Amino acid sequence: MALHLHNTLSRTVEPFTPLDASGKSVGMYCCGPTVHDFAHIGNFRTFVFADLVRRYLEFRGYQVNHVMNITDVEDKIIRRVREQQTTLTEYTAKYQDAFLADLKVLNCTEAHHVPKATDHIPEMIDLIAKLIERGIAYKADDGSVYFSIENYRGCGCTYGRLVNLNFDEMRQGDRVSDDEYEKESVADFALWKARVPEDGEVYWPSPWGEGRPGWHIECSAMSMKLLGTSFDLHLGGEDLAFPHHEDEIAQSEGATGKPFVKHWLHGAHLLVEGKKMSKSLGNFFTLRDLTDKGYHGREIRQLMISAHYRETFNFTMAGLDGARTALSRIDECVGKLREAAGDHTADPAPAVIEKFTTALDDDLNVSSAWAAVFDWVRDCNRRLAEGALEAAGAAAELAAWDRINSVLGVSQTDEDPPEALVGLMHERTEARANKDFPRADAIRDELTAQGWAIEDTPNGPRLKRS
Ligand SMILES: [Zn+2]
Repeated sequence: MALHLHNTLSRTVEPFTPLDASGKSVGMYCCGPTVHDFAHIGNFRTFVFADLVRRYLEFRGYQVNHVMNITDVEDKIIRRVREQQTTLTEYTAKYQDAFLADLKVLNCTEAHHVPKATDHIPEMIDLIAKLIERGIAYKADDGSVYFSIENYRGCGCTYGRLVNLNFDEMRQGDRVSDDEYEKESVADFALWKARVPEDGEVYWPSPWGEGRPGWHIECSAMSMKLLGTSFDLHLGGEDLAFPHHEDEIAQSEGATGKPFVKHWLHGAHLLVEGKKMSKSLGNFFTLRDLTDKGYHGREIRQLMISAHYRETFNFTMAGLDGARTALSRIDECVGKLREAAGDHTADPAPAVIEKFTTALDDDLNVSSAWAAVFDWVRDCNRRLAEGALEAAGAAAELAAWDRINSVLGVSQTDEDPPEALVGLMHERTEARANKDFPRADAIRDELTAQGWAIEDTPNGPRLKRS
């Protein structure tokens, strides 16, 4: 079976075929963060999902060109800049750096391009000019430039490709200047917002006067600049489907007359402890809140990719503890395979890879992929216990796990303990032999404090991550 993915455009699961004639290269755009605050775990579910898609495409042999933008100018940011009496760059740099650092904690592969909106104002102006030229955008009395839904539809284009819209509610010429609005108020939206006093120093010159771009035009301009007028995959959280993605399609196809994106993937949102995340309910978490509680990035990552991306996911603390247990089962098995394999290397054992691939080919069915992984853990443990896995066999299973982990990204990366700690471990063995138990206990405490535990194996003690 080939890779199949759900496409929001058709509302069906379709075979994935890239636009590239050779069928190898894939252009993939994921709407990045609006850097107005620290990103919360609901945001990160989308980015971990995008990372899973990217890694799986690479696992399947595609060459992915991955673009994730940074929205560093929009309504919320400007409001905060005004409230805190700072500059746009100073304000956004802090949250941009924090976001990129958080992605590393979650072991998300860095995008090939991370364009910032404020570095692409000329491209946005060009795109707006094209829309005006084609009669699909107009300058209104307030000095701003709006996208005309009426004229776009008049050209035979469909507005409402990703979501069903009720046009009866819309009156010709209704306009909305906010970046975020409800389906009920479908109306002409702002492409260029004329400068107002509240914008402070946040403005750029344009053929239509000083102002700033609307949020939606930012993504159209940056994605088409880096991936071309038509590209393969566009990802984002489901809350972005309307109006953001719908408007991206309208702006892009309105300006170029060509299909914008072949395949739209939307990740469902996340509940925390069964409820919508909110600061007042006390269930609102940034990634930092969870790492401060002692959870590791890979545990949070595992939990986020334990359920299908199109299902609403209930994120709980019990779930995080479960992720810790699940990963330690994998770590233990992989550790034993390493011991058994010694210096041997081998080609990956095919059985588990085949099951894993079949699962993910089916619209990224991760539940089934994890089931294949844990069946494999059980099977390896049994064969190891029975002495039925010789060095070459263990090396083949290890190589299979490396392939699978290139997609899941949850294996311990610091498997080998630092030499100083190994020295301490041996010192403890000696202390115990000499019946110096206070010293032995002190060493054990020191190792625990550094995040390592001593495990007794038939080959003597070894250190493992606690
Ligand atoms: Zn976007």
